[in-house]
Amino acid sequence: MVMGNSHLFMNRNNRLAVIASHTQESRFLYPGKRWAFADLFGDGGSCVESNCAGSKDGKYELLTAINETIAEEIKELMTKTDVKGQQTETLLAGSIAKALCYIHRLTKEVKANQEIKSRILVIKAAEDSALQYMNFMNVIFAAQKQNILIDACVLENDSGLLQQACDITGGIYLKVPHMPSLLQYLLWVFLPDQEQRSQLILPPPIHVDYRAACFCHRNLIEIGYVCSVCLSIFCNFSPICSTCETAFKISLPPVLKAKKKKLRVAV
Ligand SMILES: [Zn+2]
Ligand SMILES: [Zn+2]
Repeated sequence: MVMGNSHLFMNRNNRLAVIASHTQESRFLYPGKRWAFADLFGDGGSCVESNCAGSKDGKYELLTAINETIAEEIKELMTKTDVKGQQTETLLAGSIAKALCYIHRLTKEVKANQEIKSRILVIKAAEDSALQYMNFMNVIFAAQKQNILIDACVLENDSGLLQQACDITGGIYLKVPHMPSLLQYLLWVFLPDQEQRSQLILPPPIHVDYRAACFCHRNLIEIGYVCSVCLSIFCNFSPICSTCETAFKISLPPVLKAKKKKLRVAV
């Protein structure tokens, strides 16, 4: 929330959207159902419901309203979901797709002379899901095409997928080395926009894990077989591509015809 508030304060034209990526759904925390779209471009940014108008501590009302909305939505999301077992994979590809759609909508509705520079910050505490590999890569390439930066702030285990996403779109990937100082990393590394970043000394770029997931088992592999027609990746050789059904000509090692060799014996 502090990060989001700071972003809104950096420039009065800045906009903010927060999406929760959970195990069973991804949803907008802000702006939610209660916010009229027009309010996003209004100066006051007033909340549709009257109960969140006005702040008690003298803080800017819009920020109070946003923070309250985010907290309420998270509470609702957490109480609604029944957690089955220890599943920590979230619907990240879907959430990024939602973010891209939202950015697209803003770009269309904003005045023609106003240029929008958008970026997506993924704060990730879940494990990577190799099952989402294809969806994820498609979303990343869509972001790249729209010149949308993807930053990643990883809280626990390194994420190969996000490393690739940041590398492809020109964003910053950071695994937070010290969790209690999370906010400082957010404000220092991720708050500045692309132009300001060139003037800062930021954490050095990391080595990107460019392993791809095979289409047959979704395992991450370093060396595999690639279909020459559709570029699907497989960990085992199969004579027919399971994606595009191309039959491959199998080139067996050349069979040497046994030539009758006349032995000439030199006398
Ligand atoms: Zn496989
Ligand atoms: Zn194929």
